[in-house]
Amino acid sequence: MIRFTDVHKSFGSLEVLKGIDAEVAKGETVCLIGPSGSGKSTLLRCVNGLEDYQQGEIAIEGARVDAHAPSIHQLRTQVAMVFQRFNLFPHRTALENVMEGPLHVLGEPKAEVRDRAEEHLRRVGLADKMNAHPAALSGGQQQRVAIARALAMRPRAILMDEPTSALDPETVGDVLSVMADLAHEHMTMLVVTHEIQFAREAADRVLFLDGGRIVEQGPAADVLTSPQHPRTQDFLRRVT
Ligand code: ADP
Ligand code: MG
Repeated sequence: MIRFTDVHKSFGSLEVLKGIDAEVAKGETVCLIGPSGSGKSTLLRCVNGLEDYQQGEIAIEGARVDAHAPSIHQLRTQVAMVFQRFNLFPHRTALENVMEGPLHVLGEPKAEVRDRAEEHLRRVGLADKMNAHPAALSGGQQQRVAIARALAMRPRAILMDEPTSALDPETVGDVLSVMADLAHEHMTMLVVTHEIQFAREAADRVLFLDGGRIVEQGPAADVLTSPQHPRTQDFLRRVT
């Protein structure tokens, strides 16, 4: 579904991605882990064209991602992004936030959009919060609205950048459990996270990024339980 081939990315003279080769298969959940500053967010942002890259190729279902192509807007409707900060519209209810994209970006009929939005909010455990405004919701609830909003676009894949790291600890579990449900339902996901337990339980594969290079990747159980590379071992010792 997503293929990275020798991807290089620099900001000015700072080379941040130094030749990334990896892939995310359809229906697979891949967790991207690694120290702060290693290039995780940059890699994710390149996938849906929020950043460009200078060398190599990122392809989604075979189509090259080009941040400067007019088609990038369409790509962004198909590859949803869930951020650390949820960016909900403050003056709209949870339901209205979820309806926004399908209604105004995809131009789908309102009654249908409403039904589906309600269904997505139920799916993330917010049946009783549909008419609440973001300010009346906990961080974890807001992040679940953001996930429902992403799902409402019927994306081919979802990218998540540290979706639980800005949350109060007591609200993290509900968000991780929604993410685990999606993984088990074979939503295609690339998730940057420091939640190693989540990665162990929900990820099919793990990529460990360090200094702009993937120094280790493989099945979650292998990478997280018996990492081979000293950098991975050291990182896991520090975060677990
Ligand atoms: P991570 O998400 O793994 O913490 P990032 O992808 O955010 O890492 O950042 C990788 C490196 O790129 C860091 O050195 C960061 O300072 C730099 N960087 C990120 N975004 C920009 C930008 N817009 N301009 C310049 N440097 C950037
Ligand atoms: Mg980051």
